[in-house]
Amino acid sequence: MQCADCRALLDAYVDHELPEAERAAVREHLAGCAGCSRELSDVERASSLAKEHLVHYRAPDVLKARISSAIAGERSVSASAPQVTRRRARWWPLAAAGVLIALASGGLTYALTGQRGASHGVADEVLASHIRSLMPGHLTDVQSTNEHNVKPWFDGRVDLSPKVPDLDSAGFPLVGGRLDYIDGRVVAAVVYARRQHLINVESWPEHGPDEDPQTTNARGYHLVYWRSDNVEYWAVSDVEPGELTRFVEEYRK
Ligand SMILES: [Zn+2]
Repeated sequence: MQCADCRALLDAYVDHELPEAERAAVREHLAGCAGCSRELSDVERASSLAKEHLVHYRAPDVLKARISSAIAGERSVSASAPQVTRRRARWWPLAAAGVLIALASGGLTYALTGQRGASHGVADEVLASHIRSLMPGHLTDVQSTNEHNVKPWFDGRVDLSPKVPDLDSAGFPLVGGRLDYIDGRVVAAVVYARRQHLINVESWPEHGPDEDPQTTNARGYHLVYWRSDNVEYWAVSDVEPGELTRFVEEYRK
């Protein structure tokens, strides 16, 4: 193994992400190369520093979204230039923070039971809308912490003006509202905050019996679905599941 090859793999080595054969090759090279060993120490030091800080400052949703799109861009560059695929130095600290949520590959896993459980497509669309809303400039069409500004804004724009309760005293300040396109129709999205996190509540008219809230998880996000008075609701966020449950309880009051 050449020094350049070794150094290109150091980040992955530190993060324990190398297959055993490559790991052994790097280890062997390091044992006989003082230069690369020094480089390893630098990477390890930077890694632990980054982790230390990232634990203390959890990235807000908006930042996560920006990072996700930046990483997605970098990935597509990597795909067309195999020689740089291992050069992950620019974003590995973010991986340490667990912000790759939106990029997790593979299908979504839903634990929903009951009637709505078959409609994974809607959950997918709700989650996609949530993630898109975190991109810069996509969060709100009407931005206000006052429900008397947000609720009327929806009049004439959607079939059904959404519930916009004032949940400030419960710790969920209103951020604003937005139109989304889900399941083939324009729907209302109401945005609340919980500390640095955002909660989107999507709702639209949907005939059917009332259904109690059901929780599901996908790509690091939590979704709660329920139906009440012929309106279907989805709340989606990356807050702790318990907090999202409490939010839904407050919203439904
Ligand atoms: Zn070397």
